Amino acid sequence: MSENIQQKIIELREELHQHNYYYYVLDEPTISDFEFDAKLKELQELENLHPEFFDPNSPTLRVGGEITKNFPTVQHQFRMYSLDNSYDFNDLEDWENRIIKTISDPVEFVAELKFDGASISILYENGKMKEAVTRGDGFQGDEITANVRTISDIPLVLKGDFPEWFFMRGEIYLTRKNFDKINARREEEGLDLFMNPRNTAAGSLKIQDSGEVRKRCLSAVLYQFIANDIPAQTHWELLQSAKTWGFKISENAKLCSNLNEVKDFINYWDEKRHQLPFEIDGIVLKVNSLKQQQQLGYTAKSPRWAIAYKFKAEMVETELEKVTYQVGRTGAITPVANLKPVLLAGTIVKRASLHNEDIIKKLGLHERDFVYVEKGGEIIPKIVGINLGKRNPANPEIQYIKNCPECGTELIKIEDQAIHFCPNEMHCPPQVIGRMIHFVSRKALNIESLGQETIAQLNREKLIENPADLYTLTKEQLLPLERMAEKSAQNILDGIEKSKAIPYEKVLFGIGIKHVGETVAKKLAKNFESIDALKNASVEELIQVEDIGEKIAESIVDFFKNPENIVMIERLKSYGVQLEKGENATEVLSNTLENKTFLFTGKLSLFTRESAEEMVEKHGGKNISAVSKNLNYLVVGEKAGSKLKKAQELGTVTILDEQQFLDLING
Ligand code: AMP
Ligand code: ZN
Repeated sequence: MSENIQQKIIELREELHQHNYYYYVLDEPTISDFEFDAKLKELQELENLHPEFFDPNSPTLRVGGEITKNFPTVQHQFRMYSLDNSYDFNDLEDWENRIIKTISDPVEFVAELKFDGASISILYENGKMKEAVTRGDGFQGDEITANVRTISDIPLVLKGDFPEWFFMRGEIYLTRKNFDKINARREEEGLDLFMNPRNTAAGSLKIQDSGEVRKRCLSAVLYQFIANDIPAQTHWELLQSAKTWGFKISENAKLCSNLNEVKDFINYWDEKRHQLPFEIDGIVLKVNSLKQQQQLGYTAKSPRWAIAYKFKAEMVETELEKVTYQVGRTGAITPVANLKPVLLAGTIVKRASLHNEDIIKKLGLHERDFVYVEKGGEIIPKIVGINLGKRNPANPEIQYIKNCPECGTELIKIEDQAIHFCPNEMHCPPQVIGRMIHFVSRKALNIESLGQETIAQLNREKLIENPADLYTLTKEQLLPLERMAEKSAQNILDGIEKSKAIPYEKVLFGIGIKHVGETVAKKLAKNFESIDALKNASVEELIQVEDIGEKIAESIVDFFKNPENIVMIERLKSYGVQLEKGENATEVLSNTLENKTFLFTGKLSLFTRESAEEMVEKHGGKNISAVSKNLNYLVVGEKAGSKLKKAQELGTVTILDEQQFLDLING
């Protein structure tokens, strides 16, 4: 049994790592965010139940490079139930019939919009916001108070005649407008675009830096009051009172005295929902009387007094005009269906993603087919089927391209990945431009004055093909470019000049070694003091560094095997770009741990893993990533698993608890 679970955990981790890679590295996800989140949730749940299989590299601990784990877990004092779903009016009638069996008095309903975001539970004490917790698994969630405080819709201090102690629940969401703004900005910065407002809202709540959360401009609406003492008889009254205490309550809730009124409400919003500034995925119905709610009670998962009505995803038929192929910044090819424009879910749709060759084959798509297009949670609609009855038998099946549409190079398809790539990374224009955009981006060399459009122009004019070329640009070369004024040319040159002071670790991130993200670059810079030291490192040496696996190590070694990269690096050096660690790098506090190696395992409670590793370095020691005979000390937290066992078996490793580790540092 437990072996099966371990196997399942391992498989899910591998799968998620793979999808992370598709999403972040190839910028070409093969599953929706929703499916990804579902898998991640499944893994998270298994890991929660089985801490003995803890792995510091699990995707649950590092979703897309950000550690979201440090929010304290908080038990919900009142469980956060989910809602039963219904999809048609029959389901609603069945629901009403079940209610009538328990309740003989007339039943009123409150119909509300079902906001598509992330739910939140906020504790108010004496009129002040005290604590905000995500839904989590319904029993416990993450405490994200600092982040929720940044949301303007949520009152920090109440007014009027509010109760002393209660929870307010609601939904945090992103308006379509703000979602588009975020994506526009990400596009400018050369970052992957977010898929849909809901996941972006949920993801934003887990950003470590609340300042960044603020910039996401999240919205919120509150829809439920919970406490031991309830100052009203009905849900409707509670909503009105909450409004007087300063809460943002939906303007579109409606008190209905029977199901027919509910149906009108549903029909109205099914049609009008596209005109709302935010997304809803249905309607929520609640029994109005709190006494009746209490009589009805709960099932194992949801209240019997409430139900969600989900709108159907909208689908239309249209004609396929042609399939075109886009080359991404990483060389990944995306086939795109260009459609005869058609109105779908309030917008005109002209294109749908086809993802990859396998999906086209599975659909069995022919030229000029009539296709069914659906818009679910994702921004880009997808083709869900073909109207075979309308197919002209003379139209041949779609043939996937063999050569890169940008540079003509023959495409390759990597085994076990459905995606085609253009292997001409050094000279294929979108790939060159992608690398340059990455190099000048904020977290790398931060040359703000150099925009995407200018980079593309400079590349078209054959003035830049790799980062080193930037440093030889002259004003004479810049001025003839379209829309380039004297002042902006000077700004660009100044920005380039300033970038020479950017520290080594950021340059290392900027030069775009595959799989070397921000965090990995930091770790590399810490362990290899100069680019030359890194260049000379073997795969074996590289994987000694924590978080560096074989795949990353091999990619680094490959990078330096390419003579064009070597030339680029030598040139960067000669222009004065930082390619070694500056003096004020890691400050050294003592050499108590000199020549000693450390590894941390299990759940630490006195300090975080990151800070522990930093302590090791500051005192002259070294962190390594696996239990081996090279390991001197294993520091174990709660529920340590296989590493502890292995160290005990080896017999050469000194095992310390957290306090003993601190004692060791303090001599
Ligand atoms: P589900 O996630 O499908 O089980 O639906 C339950 C979720 O709907 C809740 O956890 C809330 O996050 C969300 N929701 C959105 N709008 C409302 C609303 N007006 N009342 C209750 N729940 C809502
Ligand atoms: Zn190409």
